[in-house]
Amino acid sequence: MRSAAVIGAGFGGLALAIRLQSAGVATTLIEARDKPGGRAYAWERDGFTFDAGPTVITDPACLKELWALSGRHLADDVELIPVTPFYRLNWPDGTNFDYSNDEAGLAREIAKLDPADVDGYRKFVDYSAGVYREGYEKLGHVAFLDFASMVKAAPALARYQAWRSVYSMVSSFVRNEKLREALSFHTLLVGGNPMTTSAIYALIHKLEKDGGVWFAKGGTHALIRGMARHFERLGGVVRLADPVVEIETLGDRATGVRTASGWRGDFDAVATNADIMHSYRDLLGGTRRGKRAAEKLANKSFSPSLFLIHFGIRGRWPGIPHHMILFGPRYRGLLSDIYDHGVLAQDFSLYLHHPTATDPGMAPEGCSTFYALAPVPHMGKLPIDWAEVGPIYADRILDHLEARLIPGLRERLVTSFHYTPVDFGRDLKAHLGSAFSLEPVLTQSAWFRTHNRDDVIPNLYFVGAGTHPGAGIPGVVGSAKATAALMLEERRS
Ligand SMILES: Cc1cc2nc3c(=O)[nH]c(=O)nc-3n(C[C@H](O)[C@H](O)[C@H](O)COP(=O)(O)OP(=O)(O)OC[C@H]3O[C@@H](n4cnc5c(N)ncnc54)[C@H](O)[C@@H]3O)c2cc1C
Repeated sequence: MRSAAVIGAGFGGLALAIRLQSAGVATTLIEARDKPGGRAYAWERDGFTFDAGPTVITDPACLKELWALSGRHLADDVELIPVTPFYRLNWPDGTNFDYSNDEAGLAREIAKLDPADVDGYRKFVDYSAGVYREGYEKLGHVAFLDFASMVKAAPALARYQAWRSVYSMVSSFVRNEKLREALSFHTLLVGGNPMTTSAIYALIHKLEKDGGVWFAKGGTHALIRGMARHFERLGGVVRLADPVVEIETLGDRATGVRTASGWRGDFDAVATNADIMHSYRDLLGGTRRGKRAAEKLANKSFSPSLFLIHFGIRGRWPGIPHHMILFGPRYRGLLSDIYDHGVLAQDFSLYLHHPTATDPGMAPEGCSTFYALAPVPHMGKLPIDWAEVGPIYADRILDHLEARLIPGLRERLVTSFHYTPVDFGRDLKAHLGSAFSLEPVLTQSAWFRTHNRDDVIPNLYFVGAGTHPGAGIPGVVGSAKATAALMLEERRS
């Protein structure tokens, strides 16, 4: 294998392209949009910088490794700043819970909720450390290509009761309902319902505790730009604003790609970071393999979508930390509405991103940048007209924030815009507008997830949220490591 195409410049595509190029494979990265990043796109509006998606950067070591492969340092391209507290969780009754990896501080916060839970929390940390070792360190960066690999992982899955949900597992350690929510909501960051996502995902707690929570100076897109710069410096080629329309095949081999502009290239291997359904249904639509795989995917369960409102306001808000979760009055009921019933509920739980708390340079002098995000059902479950509902929903969120957290928000507003499930579908070709691809339930994880190498076309590879291990920056960067290992092993053999 001397040359490879990587379709899509999300975190997963970029990480894979860097790994391949670092190993001497001439790699071309082809991206549909005008900028790399995918879910981590960004906009500049009226002097404000708005990151489109990921904001909580965990496990910086997995990113640093991408530079270390060629003897360089991430710090040459990107400045990572620690964020503390990791999150402030807030409930409608006014309770705040500051969550960080400061042991003593965290014990105090837990004791405020229920002193009896401090001990249970410590036991939960031990559990989380165990699943982190098995699920992340050992299995998070290796491909599951055959059922035997799943069987090998079974004893560990059994030991950690992987069939139970994160919420159920957390509840076996602590009794306070708010603390149960605080220790289980993380699965939402990778598209999973805490009530049904495998307890293995409790590893996120350990991941954050050990590696910390970070933010890139200039925003997450500054990290994306740093990755793209690093890839080009290694000699990689980036083609922007030119969507791939076909993965060309001959027999059971991928031979190259063709783009919307008419450009085509021949490659020894093709890897796709694009949405898995889009890849099979559209890019391989002319092949039997593409049609069959798309039919199978259509029966899978996809993660919900998200509704985001981005806004820039006058004034600084030192009292509002960088990351806040504003819980609504319901937890389990709201999750059921989103995941099971496909209902746009009257109430919502919000994640509030306030990047100017860490980097004031992301807004004009004396101003602040925010986004608020609400999980909403994907378009397969809730086929509503977002062009009509979007502005109303955005207003409701702004009203809620004004009443609960940011007095005078409306009169301070300089700029705002929103992003709906339809936009995820249009901009990212996300199946059903899902924000995180396949739902991370046990029956769609590891071997049961889209394989990092196709079962029928052996030089066609997959990377990103729809593959093992799954969504989230550490997940997709881990998938790039698994996929690169397969590709480079193929080259060696
Ligand atoms: C709003 C939001 C907030 C999030 N917050 C966090 C967070 O705080 N922390 C965290 O770790 N994770 C977070 N996540 C999850 C994380 O962002 C994603 O799981 C991850 O970025 C997905 O990366 P990916 O490699 O799968 O590619 P994607 O980001 O999905 O990128 C795929 C790329 O492929 C391109 N593409 C598609 N079709 C074609 C084609 N035909 N030709 C060429 N290119 C194509 C797309 O344009 C896109 O650039 C968040 C996600 C969202 C949506």
